[in-house]
Amino acid sequence: MIPDEEFIKDDRVPGPTKEEIRCLVLCKAEIKGDEIIADIGCGTGGFTLEFAKRTRRVYAIDKDPRAVELTRKNLLKHGLTDNVKLINDDAESALKKLEDLDIIIIGGSGGKLPKLIGLAAEKLKMDGKIIVTSILLETKIEAVQKFKKLGFKLGIIDVNIARGQIIKRGTMMLANNPVSIIWGMR
Ligand code: SAH
Repeated sequence: MIPDEEFIKDDRVPGPTKEEIRCLVLCKAEIKGDEIIADIGCGTGGFTLEFAKRTRRVYAIDKDPRAVELTRKNLLKHGLTDNVKLINDDAESALKKLEDLDIIIIGGSGGKLPKLIGLAAEKLKMDGKIIVTSILLETKIEAVQKFKKLGFKLGIIDVNIARGQIIKRGTMMLANNPVSIIWGMR
């Protein structure tokens, strides 16, 4: 896993998703190495870089040009540009133009999550998986409802991580914001 501090950051772009959350998303993705992935809302490139290290091809999509540029910088820094295609576009129009996908990660939707999951389902291979990460209560409810509506099998976990920080008197556990990971498949 790439440590959080190894990412180049930009105050105007969210991410990277914390290392432990990236780790769980990878675990739930159950990749074998030959997958074609789309990272929707690539932000700083947290998921894009981890999947680029382990799969055949990654499409990194973000509507914010600063996010695409930052992901590009992080890919370059880590020598991971070969199998990644960067797309500066809204997720909806970008998805429509892509080939069929094994894994679709949705880390940002700009309030259009149900529609986006619907489009993702159309692009998803028969045994593919959609994974949504969410920090908002509303997003996780929308994701669960949409997966049910599609007749998908779904799973959801809430992840609360506290990292130890060494201080004078001992080790203090510092909590990160809870994140939900919701995944759906046929
Ligand atoms: N997972 C990323 C952080 C994602 S932040 C990381 O680990 O680095 C969410 C991103 O989603 C933002 O950069 C935002 O611009 C993007 N986003 C939100 N709605 C979008 C949409 N409809 N289409 C494309 N990108 C979108």
